[in-house]
Amino acid sequence: MKITALTTYLVAPRWCFLRIDTDEGITGWGEPVIEGRAHTVAAAVDELADYLVGKDPMSIEAHWQVLTKGGFYRGGPILSSAVAGIDQALWDITGKALGVPVWQLLGGAVRDRIRVYSWIGGDRPDDVAQAALERQEQGFTAIKMNASAELDPIDTPRATTGIVDRVAAVRAATGDDFDIAVDFHGRLSVAMARRVLPLLEPYLPFFVEEPLVPEVSDRIGEITSATSIPIATGERLFSRWDFRTVLDRGVAVVQPDLSHAGGISEVRRIAALAESRDVALAPHCPLGPIALAASLQVGFATPNLLIQEQSLGIHYNTGSDLLDYLVDRTVFAYRDGYVDLLRRPGLGIDIDENAVARAAERGHRWRNPIWQRKDGSFAEW
Ligand SMILES: [Mg+2]
Repeated sequence: MKITALTTYLVAPRWCFLRIDTDEGITGWGEPVIEGRAHTVAAAVDELADYLVGKDPMSIEAHWQVLTKGGFYRGGPILSSAVAGIDQALWDITGKALGVPVWQLLGGAVRDRIRVYSWIGGDRPDDVAQAALERQEQGFTAIKMNASAELDPIDTPRATTGIVDRVAAVRAATGDDFDIAVDFHGRLSVAMARRVLPLLEPYLPFFVEEPLVPEVSDRIGEITSATSIPIATGERLFSRWDFRTVLDRGVAVVQPDLSHAGGISEVRRIAALAESRDVALAPHCPLGPIALAASLQVGFATPNLLIQEQSLGIHYNTGSDLLDYLVDRTVFAYRDGYVDLLRRPGLGIDIDENAVARAAERGHRWRNPIWQRKDGSFAEW
């Protein structure tokens, strides 16, 4: 079997899908994207296609080595995301060619279902207690929320108590059989993180995510040693090498993104590296159905999986949502906050090619908001 073509589709709300065709009629799908830089990643896929066309799609690891290292310059969000989407599509083709799901190729399933969580509250969280109750009524047993909007490096008592009050309100509304993950999007300084996180401890958050921006990962040990709350990070780390710094500094959960961190091949290795440090895996996935399917394929075969993020109803999904590009939407029918084992070959989903083609005619130019502090200077979003 030989690869004949790579085609990218920019589709709403902010995604990029990749179709890889072969001379035997088997087609694989991937999702190579960085949110806000979809066109750039698609251009990187186009450049990598020069190497891939004519090659055997089932030589996944050999291609992964060339795609990540063969350009001399390596790493980073754009190249790692382009390779991630290609890698997903090659696993999809290989599974379809052999008639088995990808988790079977990774050694078989270690669980029958995967717990998933849902987002509430948006970028500037408001009325989170009511939103959490609605998710609980839908059967979810865990949510994730931002607990603040933009913050100053050392903010006011009001900013601090506001964070605590929002988490307390969700805990009071949902009770103790419910998990609350709190994502800071790197909005805290080291000083603010050390002030805020101990105040959240009475509400037993599931984990606190990205308290710091990734460029100061070498200081995350000062956070993990200052609180009993499990610390999660990793959506902006792109390889097993990138994760070494945080794994050596006491994080509890790593969150590589299947569409950013080199795909199924590399996230599988990051998970094993994390297991060797007693750290759990919770793949980042506010993205589309292909990224979610790839995440679940790894999760079914990975012993140290904690939970899976998914984007149904997330605040970014305006105009289009997780299920819109699937022929059979029941694959992601959540029951009691879990998704069942995907049983179809490859990634286990059937992409609605007509819906993708129609959406790609419209395309998108999604960009994240640019935030400012009160004095007009740049604030982390
Ligand atoms: Mg996050």
